[in-house]
Amino acid sequence: MPRVAILYCKRIKDFSCIACAKCYKAMAEKDGEFAKYDEVELVAMTDCGDCPGLAFPKVKLLTEVTNNLERPIETLHLGTCVKLAMETADCPIDFDELKILLENKFGINVVLGTHNY
Ligand code: SF4
Ligand code: SF4
Repeated sequence: MPRVAILYCKRIKDFSCIACAKCYKAMAEKDGEFAKYDEVELVAMTDCGDCPGLAFPKVKLLTEVTNNLERPIETLHLGTCVKLAMETADCPIDFDELKILLENKFGINVVLGTHNY
């Protein structure tokens, strides 16, 4: 079962996207970016580290914690909220650059997006 973690936009979660209910639904129904998995084991969900683009140190800490708990992350999803922040606001994350950095440094797969709602 793939061990997945989700990073959400600190500025959007619980303001315009409440309680991550949409991502939990998509995981349960294997919708959106979760459609490719037979089952998903969510090992962690946390914020992006906040503006101005502090995702790398946040993921460093996240991988240390999950590795110490012997539940290492295989795939990290940047939530649809992060995608929206990049497309419609001034989110400083450059996904292509961040994906390469995180995959090379931490040996995880990095995917942009979660649900389609
Ligand atoms: S898109 Fe997903 S991760 Fe982001 S706030 Fe909404 S439910 Fe949570
Ligand atoms: S706008 Fe981007 S960097 Fe800022 S909190 Fe949201 S996802 Fe994180």
